[in-house]
Amino acid sequence: MKTEFEIIEKYFNKKSKRAIKGIGDDAALFEKDKKNYWAISTDTLNEKIHFLSNTDPFRIGWKAAAVNVSDILSMGASPLFALLSISLPKPNSDWLDKFSKGFFACCKKYKLELIGGDTTKGVLSINVTILGDVNKKNALLRSGAQINDDIWVTGELGLAALGLEIAKQKVMATSTLSKKSLNALEKPTPDERIIEKISLFCNSAIDISDGFISDLNHILVASKVGAKIYFQDLPISKWIKNNKKEDLALYGGDDYQTILTAPKKMRFKIERLIQKNKLSLTRVGQITNNRKLLIDHYEKEVKLKKGYDHFGKK
Ligand code: ADP
Ligand code: MG
Repeated sequence: MKTEFEIIEKYFNKKSKRAIKGIGDDAALFEKDKKNYWAISTDTLNEKIHFLSNTDPFRIGWKAAAVNVSDILSMGASPLFALLSISLPKPNSDWLDKFSKGFFACCKKYKLELIGGDTTKGVLSINVTILGDVNKKNALLRSGAQINDDIWVTGELGLAALGLEIAKQKVMATSTLSKKSLNALEKPTPDERIIEKISLFCNSAIDISDGFISDLNHILVASKVGAKIYFQDLPISKWIKNNKKEDLALYGGDDYQTILTAPKKMRFKIERLIQKNKLSLTRVGQITNNRKLLIDHYEKEVKLKKGYDHFGKK
C-alpha cells in the first residue's frame, strides 16, 4: 500500500449510484436542475505537510480556500459555498485573526461564501469543503480529452516547488523570483477568468496539485489517450531552466495551475481570447492515440517514461 492513489483505489473507490461523477475527478458532480450540476470537492492542509509552521497565517487561510477553488474551477464550475473545519492545538487570537482575514480575502476574490464548518482541538489541520455549480454543457472531466486535442496550461510551472526550496533555504534565487515563487507557494491564485472565457471550448481539465506530469497523466489515464509535450514551449522561468531545475516544473507539486485540452479547431479562437483578455495560457502539447506520455527534446525522457509506466500499472 504505497501511494495515496493505491489507498483510494483499494479502500474507497466505490461507484456512486446518484452522482453523475463520483470519485476520480477534481470534484464530484450531481444533478442541480435541468441545466446545471452541483460540483463538490474537499481539500485539507496539514501543518508541516502542506505548510511550514512559520508560514504567515493570513496565507494559510488564503491557501485553504484557494486550493479548493482550484478544484472547482478546473471542473469548469463556479465556486459558491464553503464549509471550514479547523483543528487547533490551542486557540491563539492573533493567529486566528490573520488566518480568518486570509480565508475571507480569498473568499471575496472568488465570490465564495462560508456557510458552515467545525472547530476542534488537535494538531493544526484545516479542511475545506467547497460547493459550486456548472452548466451541464460546460462541465470538464478528466476523462474528456480527445485524440489531437491541443494541451494548454495556465500560468507558470514549478514556481511553488521553487518557493518551497527557497522557504527551506535550500536555494537562492533573485529577489524578484524569490518573492514570486513564495507567493505561488503560499498564496496560489487560480485565474478564474481563464476558466470563464476558455472552458467552453475545452474537452477536459485538471488542476495541478501533484505536479504537471502526474496530473496530466490523470487526464491521459481517464481519457485512455497519450500526449506529446513540446518541452521548449512549457511555461518555465529562465532561472529554473538555466539552473537545470526543470524537475521542479515537471514533478513539483502545489502549482494550482490548470491543464486544459481543447480541439485543434478551437486554437485560433482561444489564441484570440488570450490576446484580447491578456490571459496567461500556453499551448504545450497535443493529445495522441498511443497511450504514452512523451516529451520532445528532453534529455531525461527515459525517467519520464518510467514515471508514466509506473503510474500506468495501477
Ligand atoms: P485532487 O488532487 O484533485 O484534490 P485527489 O488526487 O486528492 O484529487 O483525489 C483523487 C480522487 O479521489 C478525487 O476524486 C477525490 O475526491 C477522491 N478521494 C480522495 N481521497 C478519498 C477518500 N478518502 N475517500 C473517497 N474519495 C477520495
Ligand atoms: Mg485537483
